[in-house]
Amino acid sequence: MSGCIALFCGGVGGAKMAAGFAATLAASDLQIIVNVGDDFEFCGLNISPDLDTVMYTLADRHDAEKGWGLRGETWTTMQRLIELGGPSWFQLGDQDIATHLWRTSLLRQGQSLSDVTHTLSRAHGIAHSIVPATDERLRTQIRTGDGLLDFQDYFVRLRAQPVALEILYAGAEHARPSPALRDCLAHPSLRAIVLAPSNPWLSLGPMLAIPGVKETLGRRGLPVIAVSPIIAGKAVKGPAAKLLGELGAEITVYGVAQFYRNVATHFVIDQQDAMHADRIRALGMKVHCTDILIPSPARQRSLAEELLDMLDRLETASFGA
Ligand code: GDP
Repeated sequence: MSGCIALFCGGVGGAKMAAGFAATLAASDLQIIVNVGDDFEFCGLNISPDLDTVMYTLADRHDAEKGWGLRGETWTTMQRLIELGGPSWFQLGDQDIATHLWRTSLLRQGQSLSDVTHTLSRAHGIAHSIVPATDERLRTQIRTGDGLLDFQDYFVRLRAQPVALEILYAGAEHARPSPALRDCLAHPSLRAIVLAPSNPWLSLGPMLAIPGVKETLGRRGLPVIAVSPIIAGKAVKGPAAKLLGELGAEITVYGVAQFYRNVATHFVIDQQDAMHADRIRALGMKVHCTDILIPSPARQRSLAEELLDMLDRLETASFGA
């Protein structure tokens, strides 16, 4: 069946799922809604790490090994910056800096982050829509034993080592969904919402905290399919498992499912986690077990196809009911 899928995603896990859907769906059938809670300013440049990871991945220019930035980067500008006494805790490659220079320049000319993202995506030859969740300022912060930390301070400078006590989304209460997110959630052709295997607290949480987003998902009554970023009690990459424990949740797919309770209608877990399925069903979600480790483009595409097949079956069943 045709119609549009809204994929909510962060950087690394999100970009993999975005690549899978982009390989399967026409540009008109996919809206990739990206977290901006990690955005920050560095030496006067506006950096949007998740938007760039998704953009570089869809353009097949990303550095898959590092999980951020462009392949084949050089670091001359950064080295010179450090020689001049500038900060060294955040790394930006020479080509990557061009993205941030252009984004910053267009934002200063008064363009919205949505418009700038559209311009940058087209310049990368990407046909699919990559959309920031909001054009307004929304910043993830981590309350730790060492005080309140801005996201990049916690994640990059302190390598996510401080114990997290609480995750805050500064500015979320006043943020409005970006025009494309608002239109997509209201559009009659919207079939389903997919929550990528991104970090629930750091990538999905900021977007779900934008007033109206969660409520609209509920009101539309469409399938909301969340894919777990945790497999067999471990994050594939990053601090998701560490955060689960620190925030008092069980370090399993069940802990993630609790986060998505009352948001997701379907939860996709790895076959290795099948023993948690009954407890997740008891939270009110349907469970689908499959292989959700998607390191390669082929695996990303086959998971996207499997989710679309699942959606076809759901739609056929409810049509027949
Ligand atoms: P970030 O904003 O760059 O941290 O990116 P995301 O939040 O989108 O992605 C981080 C999450 O992706 C981590 O919690 C990982 O466990 C998850 N992840 C990365 N690769 C995979 C994968 O192949 N499969 C699944 N299921 N999760 C993955």
